[in-house]
Amino acid sequence: MTDLQIAHSVRPRPILEVAKELGLQQEELTLFGSHKAKISLKVLERLQARKLGRYILVTAINPTPLGEGKTTTSIGLAMGLTRLGHRAVVTLRQPSLGPVFGVKGGGTGGGHAQVIPMEDINLHLTGDAHAVAASHNLLSAFLDNHLFQGNQLAIDPSRVSWPRALGVSDRALREITLSGETGNRSARFVITEASEVMAVLALARDRLDLRERLGRILVALTTSGRPIVAEELGCAGSMAVLLKDALEPNLVQTLEGTPAFVHTGPFGNIAHGNCSVVSDAMALRCADFVVTEAGFGSDLGAEKFFNIKCRASGLKPDLAVVVATLRALKLHGGGGPVKAGAPLPVSLTGPNQDALAKGFANLEQHIANAQAHGVPAVVAVNAFRDDPPAELAWVRDQALKAGAAGAAVSTHWAEGGKGAEELASAVVRASETPSQFTPLYELSWPLSKKIETIATRIYGAKGVAFEPEAERQLETAERLGFGRLPVCMAKTPLSLSHDAAVKGRPAGFTVPIKELRVLAGAGFVTAVCSGIQLMPGLPKKPAGERIDLDPESGEIVGLA
Ligand code: ADP
Ligand code: MG
Repeated sequence: MTDLQIAHSVRPRPILEVAKELGLQQEELTLFGSHKAKISLKVLERLQARKLGRYILVTAINPTPLGEGKTTTSIGLAMGLTRLGHRAVVTLRQPSLGPVFGVKGGGTGGGHAQVIPMEDINLHLTGDAHAVAASHNLLSAFLDNHLFQGNQLAIDPSRVSWPRALGVSDRALREITLSGETGNRSARFVITEASEVMAVLALARDRLDLRERLGRILVALTTSGRPIVAEELGCAGSMAVLLKDALEPNLVQTLEGTPAFVHTGPFGNIAHGNCSVVSDAMALRCADFVVTEAGFGSDLGAEKFFNIKCRASGLKPDLAVVVATLRALKLHGGGGPVKAGAPLPVSLTGPNQDALAKGFANLEQHIANAQAHGVPAVVAVNAFRDDPPAELAWVRDQALKAGAAGAAVSTHWAEGGKGAEELASAVVRASETPSQFTPLYELSWPLSKKIETIATRIYGAKGVAFEPEAERQLETAERLGFGRLPVCMAKTPLSLSHDAAVKGRPAGFTVPIKELRVLAGAGFVTAVCSGIQLMPGLPKKPAGERIDLDPESGEIVGLA
């Protein structure tokens, strides 16, 4: 059965019932039909004094290009915890609309571990991403209008860094020329998830914080090099208005009726790749366990979760779950190669204890990465159908020897929550004692020291080398007062290093820093190690060619 068929085979619970079980009141919900709702921010106030649930971060080893199952494991774990009698919520990012019609992103899980209604979640959901794009583009329009209306602020048109945003993958818009009344200048489009406004929405604690962050967005420099922010263009209030409803988390459910908050979708490269602070804060007041997914492996998503998101929210994670698969570990042990678009070779999908043993070192670094933040790690071995049972058991046992606080083989993809019960038990046990969570670096350190600390402690690098352009940007960022912000690393997710082809647990490498970008509203400085593409293109055969609308039933066909 396809994911869509599985999703359609269950009868979803009325969302009102899911909400009531969580202790939410009807007047705190805005219903979108019977299976989706927005949750009012008033819940945060009403439950302010409530003891917080345990906060479980799901992360992973460095993946194959297919993904190793963080979303499915997060959903499976929440369902497994529910089966053990705990009140659990899973909090996830909303998938990007772009890849749905390009290369399928798989953002709602798969098999028997999915969130539903999966078509809605993959498409418009409750319209938040559209609101983000509108808010973003309003600022673009205000900026160009300011230039047109006499440019009182003396903005240097060649130093405008604020792009335009669109929710569709369209490579033709990566580099454009604006012409006409406002004069000629080059400009860029980014996909909505790469917009700083998306990161702002994801990190805002409440309306006031949202408003202030929007006002701090850096859009350009003046001819004398002074930074210009959205507040000076008089735009931030209107931007906040457009995001009024988008700040409220969306409530949906898993295939087994477990509550799921799906909210905001910042990219994992230019931004921090985590779902919203508001959804986690709210879920932690409603549930005993909140399972949340961070993008990519622990070197990217988890590091940013700890050092950017948790710093912004003030919330303290109790445990990390590190997802590993036999296939990815074998790839790290030399079992490849993997060709883009081709099925994985049998050296990865079939028995290969040799490569597995060699590749295990990659997992060790990811366990250590959680521990470097004072957070214990439980390893989830995500089992695929043909995985040899002896190899699965070997990884589980080896993980315990390597210092994991728990380990379990999990079959949630094939079996739903039942297949994740062993993992859920391990998570309950390992999260009994509170973690010793501490961020990896102090905000008072210079940006260069923060970047170097992440590269050496989390990637296993020897050091970093700033390229001349980055060196200049580093100096400017410090001089303009952005030096006390946390850093957001943009590098390949496929390797612990900056080079996608380097597998395993490399050592002795130097990470090049090519560029720094100040995202003052989001509240971090992004350090780019390898080129990042902020506007994806469509492949030769876009997934959208197979998608259609059934005229009789109104159902979507071909989505997955
Ligand atoms: P991530 O969140 O780490 O990118 P996902 O959970 O989205 O990974 O999984 C990536 C893809 O692999 C999805 O299409 C999912 O359905 C599939 N997948 C994950 N785990 C399994 C499994 N155990 N067996 C078969 N397919 C799986
Ligand atoms: Mg995912």
